[in-house]
Amino acid sequence: MIRWNGWGDDTVVYPLHEGPRDFLAVLVGPGSPPRDVSLEEVVASVPPSRLPAHSLVSYDPADRVRHARGQSLPDWIAMRSGRFGAFPDGVAYPTTDAEVRDLLCYAGEISARVIPYGGGTSVVGHVTPLPGEAPVLTIDLGRLNRLRDFDESSKLATFGAGIKGPDLEAQLRARGCTLGHFPQSFELSTLGGWVVTRSAGQQSLGYGRIEKLFAGGRLESPAGSLELPPFPASAAGPDLREVILGSEGRLGILTEATVRATPLPQREDFLAVFFADFYQGQAAVQEIMQARLPLAMLRLSTAIETQTTLALAGRERLIGALERLLALRGVDDDKCMLLLGFTGREAVVKMARKEALDITGDHRGVYVGRTFGKEWHKSRFRTPYLRNTLWEMGYAIDTLETAVDWANVPAMLQAIDDSLRSGLGDVGERVHVFSHLSHLYPYGSSMYTTYLYRISPEPEETLRRWQVLKAAASSAIVSHKGTISHQHGVGTDHLPYIVAEKGPLGMAVLGDLCRRFDPDGIMNPGKLVA
Ligand SMILES: Cc1cc2nc3c(=O)[nH]c(=O)nc-3n(C[C@H](O)[C@H](O)[C@H](O)COP(=O)(O)OP(=O)(O)OC[C@H]3O[C@@H](n4cnc5c(N)ncnc54)[C@H](O)[C@@H]3O)c2cc1C
Repeated sequence: MIRWNGWGDDTVVYPLHEGPRDFLAVLVGPGSPPRDVSLEEVVASVPPSRLPAHSLVSYDPADRVRHARGQSLPDWIAMRSGRFGAFPDGVAYPTTDAEVRDLLCYAGEISARVIPYGGGTSVVGHVTPLPGEAPVLTIDLGRLNRLRDFDESSKLATFGAGIKGPDLEAQLRARGCTLGHFPQSFELSTLGGWVVTRSAGQQSLGYGRIEKLFAGGRLESPAGSLELPPFPASAAGPDLREVILGSEGRLGILTEATVRATPLPQREDFLAVFFADFYQGQAAVQEIMQARLPLAMLRLSTAIETQTTLALAGRERLIGALERLLALRGVDDDKCMLLLGFTGREAVVKMARKEALDITGDHRGVYVGRTFGKEWHKSRFRTPYLRNTLWEMGYAIDTLETAVDWANVPAMLQAIDDSLRSGLGDVGERVHVFSHLSHLYPYGSSMYTTYLYRISPEPEETLRRWQVLKAAASSAIVSHKGTISHQHGVGTDHLPYIVAEKGPLGMAVLGDLCRRFDPDGIMNPGKLVA
């Protein structure tokens, strides 16, 4: 069963051995496991529903608890402490597009607020009901999960938008194809969620972000249905897919999406190269990107992230051998790990690998073979389970991300690091911060930062610490001209910062769009646009 207050399947655990535990204790101090509330305690606190009866709606308090929060750190603090704030008044599980329409009509008639719910993996407050007078109906799209059409010659696949990553890939693989969209939340997140949050998968370098993979679909909105035909390309005015991409449930419900699949690759290779410092690594990846080599993935970790990854891997003997080898080549304390991924036809993979390794060699990178790349590939969807283990050890962990042009990368990394590392000085707490460049472009890169601090015995204090850190890092991002999100979206957590990049006219346009699709303002209010 899916954990109601943490990440993933409750039969999967991510144990941490003594070495990694000591490593964290040295960095931020020993953690104290917090007292978490039980599901029964939370269920008992759920108020009566304010929604009138409807045959498609469940009023079961446990369903309402399970749909009240996503996966942001404030969501975790709420779920673990029982301080939820608000619950949806009911949860519907439509099985057809017609049922979605019916539910939108029902919500409209009673002025209920509607929260579309995909996999609930949002990390920025997208699915959280806001307190208010109006009842809240959460529409869980998990039963819109069928393959509706597959056009073999065009490799266009049409799915119900609530399909989750593994089911979607299984359907495509049975037809010799892949979508190639692998966000780290792949196990639980849905196609519709990916589209409306503008998600980026780990191999977006090869397959493209969801914007490129999303060919068309159908949106059911309070104002009517919008059909988006899957043209290969079109010059017929502005592309309305762009209106749906990133719409975060504000305009309506995406019930169906057509995506562009690719034949399964003949070969996949994931390799690691180490550099003496981050700047050598950055110069190498910039050159690889600007040469436009056909890679599927590049991920360059800072020295601190490299050190953290190796320490948490808990494979002391293997890592000791690696470090001795690297030291012989002059790569030691400031070493930075670059993971490279190649996917496609055998000959293309071979060519791209040779060219990329030639470039990393020119920048004095040391190629160490496939072990670390394979390990990363094997455990890439398991890593989120570490959040459960860390919380239970007394540590809160969160991530944030942005993107800037290459010239701004070093200053942005430094600014984010400084803002977080010193952020809890007022309470004498240390914050461990580490970053990597994850989605790279010829003209710039995204940056992904993880930070970890100790949980306080008081949930309000743990939340306050998060608020201080999030505000400091977000201000650093905005003042260094980064986007407030490269892949997670806006939700509630990034709302105060989005005007910095859209401007007043841009925000007004977004507000107008919401009013056109949803004249009475029932769709997911308080997210994306105030
Ligand atoms: C451990 C972890 C790792 C992650 N890794 C990545 C990553 O690698 N890349 C990345 O891009 N993101 C990542 N995320 C963020 C998250 O998974 C994405 O934002 C994802 O796209 C959300 O999909 P979902 O189906 O879970 O949507 P939800 O969280 O359920 O909803 C997100 C928003 O979309 C709306 N919505 C959902 N479905 C529909 C629909 N059919 N129609 C209209 N609105 C809808 C909701 O109302 C909400 O506003 C990660 C999150 C976690 C917890």
